[in-house]
Amino acid sequence: MSVSTAAADQSVCAPLPVLGRDVTVPLVTGGEVTYAALDYAASAPALQRVWDDVAAYAPYYGSVHRGAGYLSQLSTDLFENARVTVAEFLDCRADDQVVFTRSTTDSLNLLARALPADCQVFVFETEHHASLLPWQDVARVTYLNAPRTPAQAVQTLERALAARDPYGPALVCVTGASNVTGELWPVRELAAAAHAHGARIVLDAAQLAPHHPVSVRDLDVDWVAFSGHKLYAPFGSGVLAGRADWLREAEPYLAGGGASRKVTRREDGGVTVEWHESAARHEAGSPNVIGVYSIASACKALTEAGWDTLVAREQHLIAKVREGLADVPEVKILSLFGDDAPRVGVISFVVEGWNSSHFAAALSAEYGIGVRDGLFCAHPLVRTLLGTDPQTQGECGAPEAAPGEKSLNAIRVSFGAGTPDEHVDRFVAAVKELVTEGAKWTYRTEEGRCVPVR
Ligand code: PLP
Repeated sequence: MSVSTAAADQSVCAPLPVLGRDVTVPLVTGGEVTYAALDYAASAPALQRVWDDVAAYAPYYGSVHRGAGYLSQLSTDLFENARVTVAEFLDCRADDQVVFTRSTTDSLNLLARALPADCQVFVFETEHHASLLPWQDVARVTYLNAPRTPAQAVQTLERALAARDPYGPALVCVTGASNVTGELWPVRELAAAAHAHGARIVLDAAQLAPHHPVSVRDLDVDWVAFSGHKLYAPFGSGVLAGRADWLREAEPYLAGGGASRKVTRREDGGVTVEWHESAARHEAGSPNVIGVYSIASACKALTEAGWDTLVAREQHLIAKVREGLADVPEVKILSLFGDDAPRVGVISFVVEGWNSSHFAAALSAEYGIGVRDGLFCAHPLVRTLLGTDPQTQGECGAPEAAPGEKSLNAIRVSFGAGTPDEHVDRFVAAVKELVTEGAKWTYRTEEGRCVPVR
């Protein structure tokens, strides 16, 4: 996977309109400032287009798959059309299924429940917990050590797959773009390695899909998972798309209406159920119609904006942040694959002598900038990058090391299609000012969070 960089600032398009772009927040030092939302990796703001589409649809909202009324039928059509839109957005194969879920976490847990008997799972220790944890109760899991280059990732996987015993069904789970470093993983190469060794692969695209086109066909992955709320569609839906066979053969993720085609009483007093073989098998209960509709709207909006344009703009912002932070010797950017690795707009760092929670709190309270601090639900990866004790250190919100000692957690700045230049410029200027002049306010720790003293 390669990412082009913006040739020149003049060629960079304007940000896409998002909700909240005019919201002002109070500063602890007095006055108000426009909020700089730089925590897209957690949840991105809604695209204005998504909000408008949802508002236009809302009066026509109705139950799907069951009502005889006009609005129910209209809603059912929109719901089913959303599957087609998502399949196109992900460039799925003709016989792939698109299952609507609550989130990436939900999608991966669904797939974990659909593994064939005796399936072995291979996952790098560097994964987000959503990709790391769903497998251990349902399969034999091999946790692969953190690679230091993309090529090493492929070699590590190949060796592990070749050595598996017995040589049965296997699944590899890999993230497309790290939620800690923003670095892109060699998904196509990992997929080729998986398939060469008779395994399948699921792509965690939670951080990739909002920043980069994803082609299931081109990457040759078996499944892909992503979340609406990171894709500018914050209404509580997610996606699992890919091969139908394992999903069709599995017990339904949830038992209930919608997933069942026919239910009959038996003479012995029990009930017999025929489950759907389509995506509905794993979508029991009344689905989140607005959430699904909003994902389809976001897919269309991003496609229409054009990926070349969006990627060029994001690379321009990444360059600004990385070049700005490079001027501050106290700042260390966390990276697994090095400075030249292709990446999306997610950058984690530590500031020497600073408690990361304190730094993030000062960015918010004194500059109106929203970033995240902690271990970002990727504890093993962040500890590896910080070089802290993998067993005992770095609970989220734990007290920080003293100046000169290793940081126990990190700060993450992340941005995307709705981010104006001013937000990243303000961020870089704020980092420089905090490092050279210190915080202007006093802070204290309250329930593990660093907050300004009022
Ligand atoms: N995978 C990655 C790489 C993530 O960054 C996240 C969330 O931050 C997830 C999975 C889980 O996403 P969700 O919380 O929407 O289920």
